[in-house]
Order: sequence, then C-alpha cells, then structure tokens
Amino acid sequence: MLNKTRLLTPGPTPLPERVRLALARDMIHHRKKDFAAIMDRVQPRLQQLFGTSQPVLPLSSSGTGAMTAAVYGLFSPGEKVLVVVGGKFGERWRNIAASRHLEIQEVTVPWGHAVDPSAVEEVLDRDPEILGVLVQLSETSTGVLHPVQELGAITKKRDCLLVVDGISGVGLSPCPMDKWGIDCLLTGSQKGLMLPPGLALLALSSRAWERAAATEPGCFYFNLPKERNKLAQGQTLFTSPVNLIVGLDESLDMLLENGLEAVYAKQWALTMLTRTGVQAMGLTPYVKERFAWGITSVLVPEGLDGTKLLAIIADRFGVVLAGGQDSLKGRILRIGHMGWVDWADVLGALQAVKSSVIAMGGSCPPGDPLGKAMEAYLAALELPPGTPPPNGN
Ligand SMILES: *Cc1c(COP(=O)(O)O)cnc(C)c1O
Repeated sequence: MLNKTRLLTPGPTPLPERVRLALARDMIHHRKKDFAAIMDRVQPRLQQLFGTSQPVLPLSSSGTGAMTAAVYGLFSPGEKVLVVVGGKFGERWRNIAASRHLEIQEVTVPWGHAVDPSAVEEVLDRDPEILGVLVQLSETSTGVLHPVQELGAITKKRDCLLVVDGISGVGLSPCPMDKWGIDCLLTGSQKGLMLPPGLALLALSSRAWERAAATEPGCFYFNLPKERNKLAQGQTLFTSPVNLIVGLDESLDMLLENGLEAVYAKQWALTMLTRTGVQAMGLTPYVKERFAWGITSVLVPEGLDGTKLLAIIADRFGVVLAGGQDSLKGRILRIGHMGWVDWADVLGALQAVKSSVIAMGGSCPPGDPLGKAMEAYLAALELPPGTPPPNGN
C-alpha cells in the first residue's frame, strides 16, 4: 500500500472522522423519542443551511429521489414546465419530467455555459401556462454554476415555481432559498454535506406547499404533505435512514461551527487553488465563467487519452478524479473539491495530475504551479468577509 486513497470526485466525498464515528453509533429506533430529539436538533440547522423558514424534509433516497419527489409532488401529467438543459443533470430533469408525462419546454444551453436568464424569461413571457422552471444550481457534468438568483427574480413575479437541484451546490456556494425566491431546493448527502450517499433533503416555499397540497401525488413512496406531517413529530414517513441523520447532526455542527460564510469562503478559495494550479501547469479549465465552487473541470491536453490519464492518476498516486460523461468522455477531468477536502488534498491532486501528464509524454511549462496555486488560495481566503465573489451567485 503505497498511497492513501484521495477521493476528489463530485460525490461521494471523503468523510471527517467525527462523522464516521457518529455513523458507527448503536442503532436507535426511528419511532422513539431519542431519534425525535435528534430530528428536532437537526431541523433548525437544516433551515439555516437552506436559508429558509420552511421545513426541510429528509428523504431516504439518493439525490435523484428528491428530484423525482419534486416533479411528482408539484406537477400533474399534462402540465407545462421549462427545463434548463446544459448537461447530464439537466437531461435528468427532462427525463423525470417526461416520465411524469409533463409537457416540456426546453431551454438548451451549450455544455460548459450557464443559462442566460433572459432566454428563460422570453419563453415564460411567450407561454404563461408554464408552471415551473427546473434547473441545477451547479451542473456537475460540466462544472457550471447557473444563475439561480436571477432566475428567482423572474419566476417569483409569475405563477411559476423555481425548482432547483442543488445536489452539488448546497453547502458549497450560497443559495439562500427564501431570499432568492426558490420554490423547491433539494440536495443529497454525498456532495457538500460530508456524508455517505443515501439521504436527500428537500424544502418547498409556501406557494409550492399550496401546489403540493393540490396535486395528486404521483407515487406512493414520495408524498411530500404526508412527509411534512411526520416531520412535525420528529419522524419520517417510512423507516428513517437513522445513521445518516445521526451523521448529519455531526456534519451540520461542523458546517455551521464558524458560520456558512466561512464554508463558502473556503470553497471559493479551493476553487481558486484548483483553477490557478491547473492553469499554471498549462492546462485549460473547461468552464470560463460562472464555474461551480465544488468542482473544477479541466480539458485533457490535446493528444492524451483522458481515460488512461485518469487511470494513471489513480493507480500511481491514489488520487481518484472523475472523467467526462457522454460527449465529454475522455475530454475532461473533473476534480471534486467538495465534502471533507482541504488545500493539501487539492495540492496532492494537482501534483498527481502534473506528474501523470508528464508520464504520458505531455509537457508542462517550467515554473512552480503548486506555489502559484497556494498563493491564489491564500489571497482568496483573505478577502474581507462578505465580499461578493467575482463570478456571480
Ligand atoms: C450527483 C448529482 C445528482 C445525482 O444524485 P444521485 O445522488 O446520484 O441520485 C443530481 N444532480 C446533480 C447536480 C448532482 O451533482
């Protein structure tokens, strides 16, 4: 065993020791008071994380379960929605909406770019029957951050719900639900929350709750109004993912210890660390503007086989990165810097990328890319608190 395994993927992510120990605790019963006490402790901190005064429902499913719960709980067959499609997860929204037999208006965005809010506004102006906009906060397949705040300004003036897949964004970059006028925000446990996969979280605005109450639930397992009633008793509708909730209690402590602003500042700094590092070694970030804060995608240098590069990075250096999907397969590396990842993990990953590129016969310009990356990280961390980040959102 030469190396530690360093998991720098956009989920699952490394887990802090505190969370792992919490996950190992004895089982408790999900209908008894000890569990309800944990649920009650977790709830106000989840509301803080989501930036909402509404309940945040824990669902036992992966993130896609929460996406399904949103579509099936808020819209009925034949109703119209607008879907922003600029990557794999936008496509997933479209596929879920199609499975619910919704009428879909698609706003297609070239991969690697964020949606232009005015393109969404135009479609909504043309068709007032569109009842929802489905979008990602961070489109993980490309590494783009969509302008959710701007979309909220557009949808809140209309009878149209803004439904946001925040799976790779919540806990990584700001997304205050109430302030931005988001009607449904959801996430999964294995991205920004430093937990294993298997738990999803979902919150609705008050007007979305009205819609949910008036919608015949599309499936038996996900029933948002019933789930909400159970939450009021510190329970979930079916058997709770007990360990994950116990782990969440711990990870929320860690996330909120120094305030969410500190978490976002760290994520912004890790993003600067990664982007500066890859650029200093002659590589090109795939997303030019509006890049996400938990993942950096990088073009594989011309002439190198991206799949082989990933394998060398993993086998020789123990660093596990993600590749591209579909048309981006073999063309990009996706470096996750979410969950329990810090500067030293990223520096290790950067060096592993550099050494592997050279091992495959690629070249890197002379210089000290890791030193430059570290300077950018430290400079970003020193921004005065509350400074608006340079790339929107
Ligand atoms: C990871 C991810 C998903 C899928 O979540 P699962 O937990 O695999 O179901 C959906 N959307 C985004 C934006 C993601 O990053």
